[in-house]
Amino acid sequence: MALQTPEILSIDTSERFEKTVRRVVSILSSGGVVGLPTETVYGLAADATNETAVRSLFELKGRPDFNPLIVHVDGIEMACRCVQQWPEQAGLIARKIWPGPLTMVLEKSELIPSIVTGGHTTVGIRWPEHAFFRNVIRNGGFPIAAPSANLSNQLSPTLAEHVAKAFGNRISVVVDGGASNVGIESTVVDLTTDPPCILRPGAVQVDVLSRVIGGSVSIFAESSGVLKSPGLLSKHYSPRTPMILLSWNSMHDLDQQIRECGRIPDRTHVISYRNIPEKNRFARVWMIPEDPIAYARGIYALMHQCDDQQPSLIVVEAPPSAPEWSAIRDRLSRAVSVGKS
Ligand code: AMP
Ligand code: MG
Repeated sequence: MALQTPEILSIDTSERFEKTVRRVVSILSSGGVVGLPTETVYGLAADATNETAVRSLFELKGRPDFNPLIVHVDGIEMACRCVQQWPEQAGLIARKIWPGPLTMVLEKSELIPSIVTGGHTTVGIRWPEHAFFRNVIRNGGFPIAAPSANLSNQLSPTLAEHVAKAFGNRISVVVDGGASNVGIESTVVDLTTDPPCILRPGAVQVDVLSRVIGGSVSIFAESSGVLKSPGLLSKHYSPRTPMILLSWNSMHDLDQQIRECGRIPDRTHVISYRNIPEKNRFARVWMIPEDPIAYARGIYALMHQCDDQQPSLIVVEAPPSAPEWSAIRDRLSRAVSVGKS
């Protein structure tokens, strides 16, 4: 039996936008959960101050309870209500980068139940840029917990249909705000340490942050063994289809590497930006721009498309090593599930 879909609400006229804001605020205010567009990826939203609503979020996603949720606010005043202290660095970052794809980790206030923060004393706060999401927060008047709207560890959603596919009618409503403009999850920076530390790379780069605060910013080293940020679990963001990152210098070379993985090329999908292989040797060849911003915007949707066609392997051309590709390298390396024999 086909999975039943949730109601998909459009916001493409000002009338529908307003009506949908009212509908979503009313669902969230009574403890419900809805799929909402943000500029990073789609989120599964609940009132962050309502413990029962947040519990159902964890259940729907199958998310481990130690993995904290990001709390979304509309403005600095609401951000300050969620935290114990608002350090100067937070003010500098908020003024220059918010609203936008950046989450700050700060000591939480009593307003935020500890279920939201996975038991940590800190909370991740973000002021998102998406106009619809902002309107919902402003009209609701409460902060919104919204992890990515996918089942735990699976591919993140950048379209309303990805959310509908993941949850079916286990949620009643998804708002269609078009394709997510950034396309990958926010940068997470921990401001409770000195120097501040990037826990998860994203669209906002380390050099930008360090310029904004006028000081150094470190990057979390996984080798430290401390699970500071569950977005850093080594397996995450994965398609259902086995996936591998490869570099190749000829078609023959690529062919051979695929066979070394125990797969056959004509059941393999290839996603590439530079060494575009010949189409007829593979089940499907997808091209993606060699530009980190455009690449980030498109990669999850491409992986969803591959997954839907059920190949036996997805090969992704290894991304460049330049710093502006670090968030993409991070996500792809965690999505990988196949090694060469
Ligand atoms: P998602 O909701 O899927 O975008 O994932 C949110 C991610 O933000 C988590 O997996 C963590 O990596 C990070 N995060 C949120 N809150 C905190 C926190 N209090 N401390 C550390 N990392 C956090
Ligand atoms: Mg996620």
